[in-house]
Amino acid sequence: MTLATRNQVWTALPPVQFDEERPLALNLDPTTERQLVARLFSRDFDDWSEVLSRLGFCANPIRLVGRSETFDTRTGELVRSYGSADEALGVTFTRCGNRRADKCESCSRLYAADTFQLIRAGIAGGKTVPETVADNPLVFATLTAPSFGPVHGTRPNGGRCRPRSDTGQRCTHGRPTSCMAVHGDDDPQVGQPLCADCYDYPSQVVWQWWAPELWRRFTITLRRLLAHHLGTTSGRLGEVASLQYAKVAEYQLRGAVHFHALVRLDGPQTPEGFAPAPPSVTAPVLAALVAQAATAVRVTAPPVHDDDPARVLAFGTQIDTRPVRSSRRTDDPDRSLTPEQVAGYLAKYATKSTGDTEAKDSTHLRRLEATARHLAGLSATLNEDGDAPYGLLGKWAHTLGFRGHFATKSRRYSVTLGQLRRARQRAQARIAEANRAGTRLDLRQLEAELLAEDNDETTVVIGSWTYVGSGWANGGETALAVAAAARAREYAQERAQRRRERTVGEWER
Ligand SMILES: [Zn+2]
Ligand SMILES: [Zn+2]
Ligand SMILES: [Zn+2]
Repeated sequence: MTLATRNQVWTALPPVQFDEERPLALNLDPTTERQLVARLFSRDFDDWSEVLSRLGFCANPIRLVGRSETFDTRTGELVRSYGSADEALGVTFTRCGNRRADKCESCSRLYAADTFQLIRAGIAGGKTVPETVADNPLVFATLTAPSFGPVHGTRPNGGRCRPRSDTGQRCTHGRPTSCMAVHGDDDPQVGQPLCADCYDYPSQVVWQWWAPELWRRFTITLRRLLAHHLGTTSGRLGEVASLQYAKVAEYQLRGAVHFHALVRLDGPQTPEGFAPAPPSVTAPVLAALVAQAATAVRVTAPPVHDDDPARVLAFGTQIDTRPVRSSRRTDDPDRSLTPEQVAGYLAKYATKSTGDTEAKDSTHLRRLEATARHLAGLSATLNEDGDAPYGLLGKWAHTLGFRGHFATKSRRYSVTLGQLRRARQRAQARIAEANRAGTRLDLRQLEAELLAEDNDETTVVIGSWTYVGSGWANGGETALAVAAAARAREYAQERAQRRRERTVGEWER
């Protein structure tokens, strides 16, 4: 420590306000404030703040006790030994790793950064992904849910919400079927139904429940269409091409899930990676095939209960597919999406959740959740069996019926989050070792080595760990961590801003 660490923590604190220019406006209740001050003046504050800083100001760390020993698999020699008892606080803290920004800002930023790297490597290569992927056709596709009833929305170019010439028209519940307003982005009405009694809540929950199946069938359909285009069968597609994707699920304000996906066509797999994509499938051809597959796919959803209809489910009509060019191809004048933009979108979506939308407390989202619970109850009376199609719906009511993963990728799309995390852990150990020994590390070289090592592990870790709890000791410590994370983010943004300004300045010169 770490004077810097201490300053970073001190200046982030509302009651102390050492940094008079930028006091943080936090409203702490008296108890929390007392806990926080007690922590600041505690005897082991230095040790504690070092842990806090090492965890990147995680809001809800996991506490473990135990020991582990690392052996060299070739010689059987003990390489390293580590135990929580060696720590000044007697406990080992690890990050919570939560992807959601409303749960832990720090871990969610790390998750977004890793997701960005993963997506970007799948577009342009790097991080063990061969750079030849940059030459393969790539499409950015957005697959939406269909309409379950009109909702208020923003329109391009300041257009009106739902204009009609007969503005006096009412639904059977006596509510207007038109809306002449021009809604702003932060208008709480956006995403809310014009009439909640007309809105088809059960169908939205059922659609959401089957959305992962719709996606699965979409990928099967796309493979079939591709095979047909290449004059072969789905079963033999692998001999000429290989389809890779990364996808992220995002909630719209109306509580419906969207899929944003990057679809890449590679050639057949080879020992080094993959051969080039078949020349007859250009990015525009791939975009057309993706749109065709998304439009064609159907899932017949069984009724939830006795009085419920079977539903034929499809994606919404607002299917958007567009080719993405890699940065290596600068010959395209109307290039609309760059790898950085696409990776940035997907990384941002991946850390959002229903709880993060503006409409968090909206009547509409609450009603969707209540509908999911209600349907789960009705299906349970019909069927006691946990394997029944809607047997687990109640468990997914809080996600409005969506039970899929928020970010998924096919195996060979890119490096995995696990590889990136393990490489980071190894990097931290190496940097700590170099600091102790006073040697310098070539960080660029190090990353390549660390990622490559993942496939070629020469050590084995044997350990025994017990979970003792999660979170900081009290609200005061948590408030400190959260304030420090927010301040760290501000600093990072300012640094990025200065970098951008410098770059612009250089260009202008
Ligand atoms: Zn965390
Ligand atoms: Zn409106
Ligand atoms: Zn109505």
